[in-house]
Amino acid sequence: MSSMYEKYGLKPVINASGRMTILGVSTPSDDVAETVRYGLRHYFEMKDLVDKTGAYIARLLEVENAVVVSCASAGIAQSVAAVIVKDNEWLLENLHAEPLTVPHDIVTPKGHNVNFGAPVGTMVQLGGGRLVEAGYANECSAAQLSAAVTPQTAAILYIKSHHCVQKSHLSVAQAAAVAREHQVPLIVDAAAEEDLHCYYRDGADLVIYSGAKALEGPTSGLVIGRRQYVEWVKRQSAGIGRAMKVGKEGILGLTQAIENYLSQRRPSSAEMVAKMTPFIDGLNQLPGVQASVVWDAAGRDIARTEIRLDERVIGQSTAALVQALKAGDVAIYFRGYKANEGKVEVDVRSVTPDQLETIVDRLRAVIAGGARA
Ligand SMILES: *Cc1c(COP(=O)(O)O)cnc(C)c1O
Repeated sequence: MSSMYEKYGLKPVINASGRMTILGVSTPSDDVAETVRYGLRHYFEMKDLVDKTGAYIARLLEVENAVVVSCASAGIAQSVAAVIVKDNEWLLENLHAEPLTVPHDIVTPKGHNVNFGAPVGTMVQLGGGRLVEAGYANECSAAQLSAAVTPQTAAILYIKSHHCVQKSHLSVAQAAAVAREHQVPLIVDAAAEEDLHCYYRDGADLVIYSGAKALEGPTSGLVIGRRQYVEWVKRQSAGIGRAMKVGKEGILGLTQAIENYLSQRRPSSAEMVAKMTPFIDGLNQLPGVQASVVWDAAGRDIARTEIRLDERVIGQSTAALVQALKAGDVAIYFRGYKANEGKVEVDVRSVTPDQLETIVDRLRAVIAGGARA
């Protein structure tokens, strides 16, 4: 299958950036790929497939209800539509036909109004919601969240993500308490998170995950939560959900990936550090480079390599170096969120030891080029 690269003239990629949509997110196991193939090759009564895989996932996760959707973004849009439309037949088919008179404000901490590759607000609008920000760019307490809730509020939306402002923001459990106090549902977007239990247990009514990120499923998403809310999400397949249809292969593939995820041991952070150590030693031989282990800023159990660059020694900006690595015959992608501070991060989970050596070699060459210039 490597001929696909030749057939279409595509560049091989070393993904040292983590589960990134721009690189295709993850590479599911043979077992999941087999399940996807089975799904593609058979017919099903689709309503039954949705309901029964949902019940199966709900049992696995010890939650009331679950549904597979096409991606986490679709999960956000359909969850928003679900809490606005509920059982209303007319609204289901006319969500965007005219200004809404039912409550449709979606209250979110200002520091959670992020762009994860597309804006959270766009997904809220797709679902018929109006995003209302609570608190400030640097803080949102339970009291500030509560103060933003009005009779027009349809739900509180909490984005659990490394993209969000972390400091001085309330927890999911605190947001759940605010939601209960006002009798509105709490939707948690946990798209890239690894814990499939804690947000539901903390009191969220709907929790959304991306199928291809931590779960390493096919392109898909998962919505879990309280029975009625998930049923309302399912109804959206006859409304806005039709524009984000998930196929039988995605439903079966993600269900299998979840089962595998729960039963398989994941590499411990100590193992990630062991894999990184020779790599870090190699990097520290390079001029202007200082490498060390850092931990995920959002508290997930992920160790990464942080590379600090002395821009005077390497003779180029960090951004230029990152660009040069992407532009090679093999495209090398780092986590570049902190390039403006002279730092990049390497996520080694999807990188083989051979590829780690290639990265050091390419970095050496790019630095030599910059220092000569
Ligand atoms: C990745 C991500 C999404 C979108 O997930 P998709 O499955 O790609 O639609 C939404 N929210 C957050 C916080 C994310 O990290």
